[in-house]
Amino acid sequence: MNNLMRGYSPEQRTRALVEALPYIQKFRGAVVVVKFGGNAMVNEELALTFAEDVVLLRSVGLKPVVVHGGGPQIGDLLKKLGKTPSFRNGLRVTDEETLDVARMVLVGKVGREIVGSINTHGAYAVGLSGEDGGLITAEIRDPSLGFVGDIVSVNPGILHRLLAEDLIPVISPIGSDPTGQALNINADTVAGAIGGALNAEKVVYLTDVPGLFGDIDDPDSLIARTSVAELNASIGDGTIVGGMVPKVESCIAAIEAGARGAHLLDGRVPHVLLLELFTDAGIGTMVVGDRSPITSGADLETP
Ligand code: ADP
Ligand code: MG
Repeated sequence: MNNLMRGYSPEQRTRALVEALPYIQKFRGAVVVVKFGGNAMVNEELALTFAEDVVLLRSVGLKPVVVHGGGPQIGDLLKKLGKTPSFRNGLRVTDEETLDVARMVLVGKVGREIVGSINTHGAYAVGLSGEDGGLITAEIRDPSLGFVGDIVSVNPGILHRLLAEDLIPVISPIGSDPTGQALNINADTVAGAIGGALNAEKVVYLTDVPGLFGDIDDPDSLIARTSVAELNASIGDGTIVGGMVPKVESCIAAIEAGARGAHLLDGRVPHVLLLELFTDAGIGTMVVGDRSPITSGADLETP
């Protein structure tokens, strides 16, 4: 029996399933892009519950797409190799050697581990990087950052083909320029661009904080719901810094490009993805387009 169910009566377990029914119906066939963060990913147990959640989404008819990061894991290997990581505005400064390390760690290790843990449940996950099938074309963002890419275009054809076969794409955040040069891209940026290109129902960012704070030093300042307009207004006012900058920019880009909504959630909470999608728990930060209809499970009428 699943550990999580120990201590619950059969009636409680049945009730949990029945309460999920309206959400399962609502989201059937919907694409949900999930960014699994470097910092939310360091714990083995969480990696396994994450895999269960993704498989459960697929099993009840959603179309999950995983985009993963790997900052801490890249940092670890760089450290072993005697290189000091450096960041500017949340973006890794990437020389040629760092690019090789990032690509090896993301595609060869982190991506493989996620595919492996999903596929303990069945032959579902297929790992790919933005270089595969022409998925992500990128260009050098700023020569002083080295091989860091800005996304120029997303060609989601390969994803449509995988989703049509009920497979779960697991995407490593590397793109390539038209000459074939690989570029390291922030994983949040990739998740947003993919979510937009697929017109996702939701883009969900699992990170290592409970959501977006109005004041990062005030735990009571968690923002439950915000809009693209409000986020645009707060970018640059100093309340959003470091790794939250590309995350918030990515929420905005995703919704502007066609995703219906975005969520910033605490990936350290086991099964937070199921909590958000299939219960009325109001958790994390929900981002909506300015006039978009309410799409969170949390806003469904109580059945
Ligand atoms: P991830 O691996 O999930 O991308 P990052 O470290 O890149 O993690 O980004 C998340 C971090 O952003 C948080 O740990 C937090 O320190 C930082 N942050 C900056 N500003 C805010 C804010 N206003 N609200 C929440 N987190 C913030
Ligand atoms: Mg980050």
